[in-house]
Amino acid sequence: MEENKIPQATAKRLPLYYRHLNNLHQQGKQRVSSKELSEALKVDSATIRKDFSYFGELGRKGYGYDIQHLIYFFRKTLDQDEISRVALVGVGNLGTALLNYNFIKNNNTKIEIAFDTNDKVDKTIGGVPIYSVDDLEKELKRTEITVAILTVPMQAADEMTERLVNAGIEGILNFTPSRLSVPDTVRVHHIDLSVELQSLIYFLKN
Ligand code: ATP
Repeated sequence: MEENKIPQATAKRLPLYYRHLNNLHQQGKQRVSSKELSEALKVDSATIRKDFSYFGELGRKGYGYDIQHLIYFFRKTLDQDEISRVALVGVGNLGTALLNYNFIKNNNTKIEIAFDTNDKVDKTIGGVPIYSVDDLEKELKRTEITVAILTVPMQAADEMTERLVNAGIEGILNFTPSRLSVPDTVRVHHIDLSVELQSLIYFLKN
């Protein structure tokens, strides 16, 4: 099945499935039912069955899904055999935390380079070198990185986005509160931690 035929909502759940199936595989499990997956991942089991059907894996009643088979297809789709190299722009509190975290448990994704305007330039955090934003275009070209995490202050978000896009970045994980405008060819995923937290608290109170 071609990757571009998978619905976006399904594609977004793939890393979740992939990680969990790998855990099960490491525990020596060979099969899993959509019901078990549903309970572990808090995803509706009908959704799981539909998602898996895009991979030609229909599962059999009373047998469940073949874990290795699914891992094989998910890995191919997620390009897990290739390390995804990422740049980070804005080494403040959040940026620093992400550099130290650096997705170590997910050994296929790695922040390889960071940029800032201030006195952190020329240092490394979590082993990641920090460059001046003045060198953004040059360094992105050199490293051929096409994915960026944006952790600059809100006022700098638009300007940095424009520069990232002009430098060939294809995907931005936006941690700033700004709603970024980008061409259709660039994909933005927005993570607003304070909005998420406030909405959680709101639901608890109401
Ligand atoms: P955080 O929001 O991550 O908690 P903070 O409060 O420590 O960060 P902010 O003012 O949000 O700091 O700035 C985040 C970082 O972005 C700082 O290290 C700042 O130097 C850097 N920064 C500001 N403008 C730019 C820019 N145009 N390009 C790159 N980095 C920038």
